Amino acid sequence: MISLRGVSKYFGHFRALDDVTLDVMAGETLVVIGPSGSGKSTLIRCINRLETHDAGDIVVDGFTVGDTRQLATIRAETGMVFQNFNLFPHMSVLRNVALGPVRVRGLSWVEAEARARKLLVRVGLEAHVAKYPTQLSGGQQQRVGIARALAMEPKVLLFDEPTSALDPEMVGEVLDVMQGLARTGVTMVVVTHEMGFARRVADRILFMCEGRIVEQGPPTTLFDTPQDPRLRGFLQAVL
Ligand code: ADP
Ligand code: MG
Repeated sequence: MISLRGVSKYFGHFRALDDVTLDVMAGETLVVIGPSGSGKSTLIRCINRLETHDAGDIVVDGFTVGDTRQLATIRAETGMVFQNFNLFPHMSVLRNVALGPVRVRGLSWVEAEARARKLLVRVGLEAHVAKYPTQLSGGQQQRVGIARALAMEPKVLLFDEPTSALDPEMVGEVLDVMQGLARTGVTMVVVTHEMGFARRVADRILFMCEGRIVEQGPPTTLFDTPQDPRLRGFLQAVL
């Protein structure tokens, strides 16, 4: 579903991604871990073209990322959930979720709001559709963020530290929704520091350091028998 070949990304002279090669299978849940500044956000932002890579090839579901004719397709195929929700403050919850399908998929408002309602039921927010984002808790706002990403019926869902901005008591409700999604067959790439979630839900975990993939494998292998000293140090610090 996602293929990266020799992908590098520079910010000025700084190499944020260094020759990354990676395949994500359809339906796979890939969790990306690593220290701050290791290139995790840059990696997923290059996949949906929020950042432009400087070398190598990225292909999502057969579409080449970087071919400007396919930008709209790439954006529609990849739903993104951000750390700080990025909801539109002046729109109701329902409108936030319905907007993408109207703008990008050409649905009528009636069709898009019907779809949005179903998704908001799925994330447990049916009682809050008419509210504005600021009237919701952080956990609720992030569940709106997930419903909004799903509204585009993407093949790929990208999560960039979706629970990092939440109060601890709200982390679980968002992770539960994500765990449910992982079982539906959508392809997910999740950057997170939630190691319990990673162990439970990931098919594979990728450890990044200094813009490179240093180690990867199934959760048990990676957590129980880490090989690289940088991974061992990282796990000691976070577990
Ligand atoms: P992570 O998500 O793993 O914390 P990032 O992918 O955000 O790391 O960043 C990787 C490196 O690239 C960091 O050193 C960061 O400072 C740098 N970087 C990220 N975005 C930019 C930017 N827009 N301009 C300059 N440097 C950036
Ligand atoms: Mg980041």
